[in-house]
Amino acid sequence: MNTLSISRRKFAHLLGVGAAAAIVRPRFTIAAEQPPKSTSTGLVRLSANENPYGPAPQAHAAMNNSFDACCRYPDEANDVLIEKIAKINGVNREQIVLGDGSSEILKLCAETFTGPTQGKLIAADPTFEAILDYSKANGAEVAKVPLTGSFAHDLGKMSSAAQKGLIYICNPNNPTASITPKNDLRDFISKTPRETMILVDEAYFHYADSPDYESVIPLVKDHPNLIVARTFSKIYGMAGLRCGYCVAQPDTIKRMHPFQMWDSVNIMALAAASASLDDADQVNNGRKLNSEAKSFTTSELDKMGYKLIPSQANFIMFDCKGPVVPIIKAMKERNVQVGRLFPALPNHMRLTIGKHSEMESFVSAFKQVMA
Ligand code: PLP
Repeated sequence: MNTLSISRRKFAHLLGVGAAAAIVRPRFTIAAEQPPKSTSTGLVRLSANENPYGPAPQAHAAMNNSFDACCRYPDEANDVLIEKIAKINGVNREQIVLGDGSSEILKLCAETFTGPTQGKLIAADPTFEAILDYSKANGAEVAKVPLTGSFAHDLGKMSSAAQKGLIYICNPNNPTASITPKNDLRDFISKTPRETMILVDEAYFHYADSPDYESVIPLVKDHPNLIVARTFSKIYGMAGLRCGYCVAQPDTIKRMHPFQMWDSVNIMALAAASASLDDADQVNNGRKLNSEAKSFTTSELDKMGYKLIPSQANFIMFDCKGPVVPIIKAMKERNVQVGRLFPALPNHMRLTIGKHSEMESFVSAFKQVMA
């Protein structure tokens, strides 16, 4: 696809040269050796559902070893990652598209499947809003369907609102951290007409541990209208590197190709993502640390009498019993940045689960603000 292509062997050689060079040149300072951003700026950043622990040690090493490949287009590194992702998900490589973060996948889906001729976007309210903007920019009508009382997607109402176009299901959902039960979602996917595309965004897949939750990637083989998005920004701690992907049937991917940017994922992100997939500890440790810090935070909020939406993600949402906007501002004045306003839930705060010490800072500032 590029003006310049390098063979796999050559790429391996370049990585090898990188590894050798790393021995003789001064070591690059890697993020793990620096204080976290929140402590270096004094701001505790609990606003963007990032993973405060960062990428796996193997990912750091892979990036270090990739400096000498930076002058090359990333064809071969693309291939390596696609092959690995396909294998992990039990699909063929023709069923994977990489993106500059899963944001690029969402944009691609909006461009391919929504618009004046393709149809409207149906999304929950509230949900992750990026795809609403991409669809509007593509000239599509956008229909918002409120979540149910248990903060699941209202799949019945979403079905009735759709004709062709695209239905966006974020599971677990951002900003509520809630899930849409697996049986309901499976049933909905099997009944949705093939002319209507379904995009299931599983950005927070690794954090969900409810028996009522499952990935829908295994359903892709039976449903040409199903696309599943994943990201390396959350459990893999690579939000600043930008890498995501989707799984779909080859014909669906072919429809997306004309809208796809060439070589959108950079060589560092490809190297880091590929190495991350080899490190089982990254997922296990990330889940464990998130769960411990989340338990601490939820029990503190519970003691203070605040009601939470059950969380299946690396963030929580809870009812502040009054408008959240002044609370967000007061928290920022105390150097704690929490999530923004979600207009459908004006009294709810979205709070990212950071490190234990960051959650202690949050609790202390929140007690002051609400006193
Ligand atoms: N999808 C959801 C549900 C998100 O919450 C986010 C980011 O927070 C994204 C997609 C975009 O993530 P990225 O582009 O970093 O993969």
